[in-house]
Amino acid sequence: MSSTFEHLELPLSQIDNLTALGYTTMTPIQEAALPPALDGKDLIAQAKTGSGKTAAFGIPLLNKLDITRFDVQALVVCPTRELSNQVADELRRLARFKSNIKIVVLSGGVPTRPQIASMEHGAHVVVGTPGRLKDMIEKKHLDLTQVETVVLDEGDRMLEMGFKEQIVDLLEFAPKERQTLLFSATFPEDISYISRRFQKNPMEIAVESQHGMETIDQQFYICHHKEKLAGLVRILASREYDHAMIFCNTKALVQDVVGFLNEKGFNAVGLHGDMEQREREQVYMQFKHHSTNLLVATDVAARGLDIAALPAVINFELPRDGDTYVHRIGRTGRAGLEGEAITLFTEKESYKLENLGKMQGHAMEYESIERLPQVRKNRVEPKYLTLYISGGRKDKVRRGDVLGAIIKEAGVAGEHVGKIDVVDHSTYVAIERDYAHQVVSKLNQGKIKGRRFKVGRL
Ligand code: ADP
Ligand code: MG
Repeated sequence: MSSTFEHLELPLSQIDNLTALGYTTMTPIQEAALPPALDGKDLIAQAKTGSGKTAAFGIPLLNKLDITRFDVQALVVCPTRELSNQVADELRRLARFKSNIKIVVLSGGVPTRPQIASMEHGAHVVVGTPGRLKDMIEKKHLDLTQVETVVLDEGDRMLEMGFKEQIVDLLEFAPKERQTLLFSATFPEDISYISRRFQKNPMEIAVESQHGMETIDQQFYICHHKEKLAGLVRILASREYDHAMIFCNTKALVQDVVGFLNEKGFNAVGLHGDMEQREREQVYMQFKHHSTNLLVATDVAARGLDIAALPAVINFELPRDGDTYVHRIGRTGRAGLEGEAITLFTEKESYKLENLGKMQGHAMEYESIERLPQVRKNRVEPKYLTLYISGGRKDKVRRGDVLGAIIKEAGVAGEHVGKIDVVDHSTYVAIERDYAHQVVSKLNQGKIKGRRFKVGRL
């Protein structure tokens, strides 16, 4: 049984805020981490994506802030710009219990100038990527001397990305008297090193992190190497998924698969590590908004993305190890919903299937891909189209302003509008396809919050 947040020593305004956010019970990691973290202890915690880690460190760090002091009191280090933005967004929601908490993102891949400007207005919490944070410290735009909480989010991923030295350098700039919360999905030696060097008697927390898997229907299809793309089409055409992720082991395959699927009339976008941040953000938004049905990704690119509860996950090939397989398919069958995990594999990969069988305690059954019918029609139109607006949070654009402009200026009812994501310098809006043209042309002529912005389709 999970308990409610009311058992914690939190201001009532925060309890109310959590209730407003729909957080009624704590997730297991929150239940384990919040009491010691609120008590000021250092933690080394293990939990999978989507387990609610942000609130596990966010609630304690926000609780400690003295907002009458205009210095950086908490630092959250994340592996990528997207993750930094996701964490900052969640922190802003959690910070609604108090007014005037300032949270700034300092991440790489975007110009520094606006970031410097936002630091000049003062920040209580800084979220960012290691390289950029270090750079900002060296250029004296960021001062860590008053920091009381440091969080390393997705520590193992940061190390995989080669950030070890930057992290070590960064931590050296923070005062010794501070709380350090380290989150990592795995505990490789480098993580233990960081922990030994920078934490004080850390409490170890590992939440039973394996997905239950009972709610996932795992299916395996063997096919010839040359038949893989055609095999994938058979799977997709027989299921007509409107939201599914397809995993590939390499960047090159992601590109091949995306190209092939679009040629065959599917709506697919690809995500891999070599893409520019902006492009990655746009791909992520399109998928999140249901403006495309299929997201083809490598494991590294997909890690940490807040996309869960998918109806299906497809493995274009088996990953190198069983943990990655579990991690991939754990994006479906969540929260008691049924999910499908479909894997294509070749004769050469059958040893990996055997390993999966050993891991799960029973042999995995499989069929030939020939068993699936060849279907002609394979068009599931996405419900939405994502529009891009050239103004974001830094331009003081809010969700309500955008929705208001769509209703008033473009004359389209709110029910045709899907998700709206306001990021630093842009806003992404999901709009039902039939209304996209009207909204783009009207908003380009009209104003949002009294200002003109460029509006286009992604
Ligand atoms: P992680 O960092 O572990 O991947 P997040 O902190 O991003 O996970 O949380 C995943 C999702 O769960 C977010 O959408 C968040 O708003 C939601 N969430 C977090 N804690 C709770 C809770 N106690 N109750 C309901 N939803 C929650
Ligand atoms: Mg996270």
